[in-house]
Amino acid sequence: MSRLLIIGCGGVASVAIHKCCQNSAVFDDIVIASRTKSKCDALKEKLEGTTATKISTARVDADNVDELVALIEGYRPDAVLNLALPYQDLTVMDACLKTGAHYIDTANYEPEDTDDPAWRAVYEKRCREAGFTAYFDYSWQWAYQEKFKEAGIMALLGTGFDPGVTSVFSAYALKHYFDEIHTIDILDCNGGDHGYPFATNFNPEINLREVSANGSYWENGHWVETKPMEIKRVYNFPQVGEKDMYLLHHEEIESLAKNIPGVKRIRFFMTFGQSYLTHMKCLENVGMLSTSPVMFNGQEIVPIQFLKALLPDPASLGPRTVGKTNIGCIFTGVKDGKEKTVYIYNVCDHQECYREVGSQAVSYTTGVPAMIGAMMVVTGAWKGAGVFNVEEFDPDPYMEALNRWGLPWVVDENPQTVE
Ligand code: NDP
Repeated sequence: MSRLLIIGCGGVASVAIHKCCQNSAVFDDIVIASRTKSKCDALKEKLEGTTATKISTARVDADNVDELVALIEGYRPDAVLNLALPYQDLTVMDACLKTGAHYIDTANYEPEDTDDPAWRAVYEKRCREAGFTAYFDYSWQWAYQEKFKEAGIMALLGTGFDPGVTSVFSAYALKHYFDEIHTIDILDCNGGDHGYPFATNFNPEINLREVSANGSYWENGHWVETKPMEIKRVYNFPQVGEKDMYLLHHEEIESLAKNIPGVKRIRFFMTFGQSYLTHMKCLENVGMLSTSPVMFNGQEIVPIQFLKALLPDPASLGPRTVGKTNIGCIFTGVKDGKEKTVYIYNVCDHQECYREVGSQAVSYTTGVPAMIGAMMVVTGAWKGAGVFNVEEFDPDPYMEALNRWGLPWVVDENPQTVE
């Protein structure tokens, strides 16, 4: 029995909340708190009567530590599941530190204003020293390690699908299939079709920033950076078929490079269709992906936020999206002196997700592991004081929970590899 405070009520949070309500034996009491309280109330209304979980709602501005502290002190949750945006990670962590609640999220910190001079100075130093230019990295949250340790509480970072399940797949492969892992290729394929000329499957701001940035991968102890979409491969995904995929920078590369001993290369590929890429390039060329404010008719607007207002709400794609996702990792390495290759993946059907929880598979594949990560923390299956990435814990209970809660996985010991 536990009390969970969930911050945010968007696409991912909606799935995680459905799953907490299916799992009332663990989550008997939850609060949904977000910027727009009406969304929390609508979800509460939908779920009440279908679950034994007690649901309350609240309004909170998660950029404001004092508001968060008041909310946590009023409710006294065992843990806070942060499913707002990466912009709020540090304020929610600060509030957890002040109140002694465990912290859980699905994406690492990224600033909303990348022109902020104080942030930019740290960022530019990191670009020079670490060798990758993504706006997000783990340094900000790993810096809380001692504070969380002293407070005797846990921060569990990155329990979505990627990062999250892909990181747990890595720990599982190391535990059960390899003495040493040499390479990891993370392949994220969305074979779904929503019928719009252009839409993003999750928060457009976060998604478009990620995709329009330089790619990078980890090789022999350092980062190798590429131009956006410079490296393309074609892969025949089980249950989806052949797709173009492109190398991107992705946050779990950073933590896996630290936590998987002896790993020589880690790459991340995501599938994109030509139409998506053409739209994105055009929007980028005209300045619509910019996060810097511009004046328009006497009012300050941020181009990418304006674009977000024009694009379909990712939460509305559920009923229209058909097809499947396939996300997983191909590992090479050695076991008992012999070289081997193992592919662990999950296939998820957009329409089945919609029928179950009213969301498409991209939100589903993130929301389910968010619930599972919270379950690992509140049940004590994963214990520790400090800041942790999911691959640092025993993967077995998490892997069992994936099978039980809607994301069954497959192990293929003779897969196609990526050149
Ligand atoms: P949405 O934009 O759909 O939802 C974000 C929610 O956060 C909204 O309810 C929004 O409120 C709320 N919010 C935003 N700012 C604040 C604030 N200052 N105070 C309180 N609430 C706030 O995003 P998604 O659900 O798609 O994504 C949620 C998280 O999941 C993101 O961090 C994203 O990066 C991560 N993610 C992780 C993945 C993984 O595999 N690891 C994959 C996909 C996403 P409002 O309704 O008012 O806008």
